[in-house]
Amino acid sequence: MSILVVGSVAYDGIETPFGKVDRILGGSATFISLTSSYFHQPLKLVGVVGNDFADGDLNRFKDKNIDLEGLQIDNSGKTFFWQGKYHFDLNNRDTLDTQLNVFEHFNPVIPESYQDSRIVCLGNIAPALQSKVLDQVQKPDLVILDTMNFWIEGARNDLAEALKRSDVLIINDSEARELSNEPNLVKAADAIRAMGPDVLIIKKGEHGALLFTDGNIFSAPAYPIIDIFDPTGAGDTFLGGFAGWLARSGDYSNDNFRRAVVYGSAMASFCVEKFGPERLFDLTAKEISERYAEFRSLSAIPVQIDELI
Ligand code: AMP
Repeated sequence: MSILVVGSVAYDGIETPFGKVDRILGGSATFISLTSSYFHQPLKLVGVVGNDFADGDLNRFKDKNIDLEGLQIDNSGKTFFWQGKYHFDLNNRDTLDTQLNVFEHFNPVIPESYQDSRIVCLGNIAPALQSKVLDQVQKPDLVILDTMNFWIEGARNDLAEALKRSDVLIINDSEARELSNEPNLVKAADAIRAMGPDVLIIKKGEHGALLFTDGNIFSAPAYPIIDIFDPTGAGDTFLGGFAGWLARSGDYSNDNFRRAVVYGSAMASFCVEKFGPERLFDLTAKEISERYAEFRSLSAIPVQIDELI
């Protein structure tokens, strides 16, 4: 069973109330693949970088045994660059600069050795490109889609097509409301699941995440992080942990989707402790298991059914 990850590979400039970095490895596919690699291999990456992409950064992927056959190196220009600034409310960020560079004409080509991947992670790129990826793979077990308000507003029809072909959608609460045109998240979830994905995850920033499956709602707790430093990539890291756990276990039951949401949350809680993906380079299985256990104990409710009766 292999995981296919498609998305942006980028350089980011990030400013938070706690520090600033001019240029650091980033991009949705970067966070997803680094995170998933802790759970399951092979991990197959599809993306594009430009002529400025450092060998040292390529090694970041190679060190985690990530297959780079599908990573195009386009020497005609520079790597996608994104710059963002966070204020004290770390749930909101301003995008200061987006330079698409070689990403502008990105045409995802899925190598033959990737085409039988069992889990396909479609990171946040144009929905038409996400569909193009699905055109090139054999029937996977699970298609997991990420998107953002930019595409909900600007490419709704393309997004509708990609949604029809997806099994899991991961978005944040404001995007869920915008996509469904419905302020109540439970009603929004029904409306979105009717668009295609059987499983919907609504992330609520530092307030946890909701998982909607058939007739079932699960609320994952938020981790009270003491050392939140930089939220960049937390959403993608969540996706990586979620997909990684499902690939590792090969179990797509409701209970296991709950576990996957908690693994996603646990990995995202590591990601925000340092700038960019720095924290994702040297985690240990022990640290991940311990954080997972902390999440479980955070919301363990002692069973006593007749308290008020
Ligand atoms: P997240 O914080 O999970 O939303 O993801 C942050 C990452 O998304 C950064 O590393 C950026 O390089 C990348 N990113 C920002 N804007 C875009 C975009 N329009 N398309 C693809 N990736 C982007």
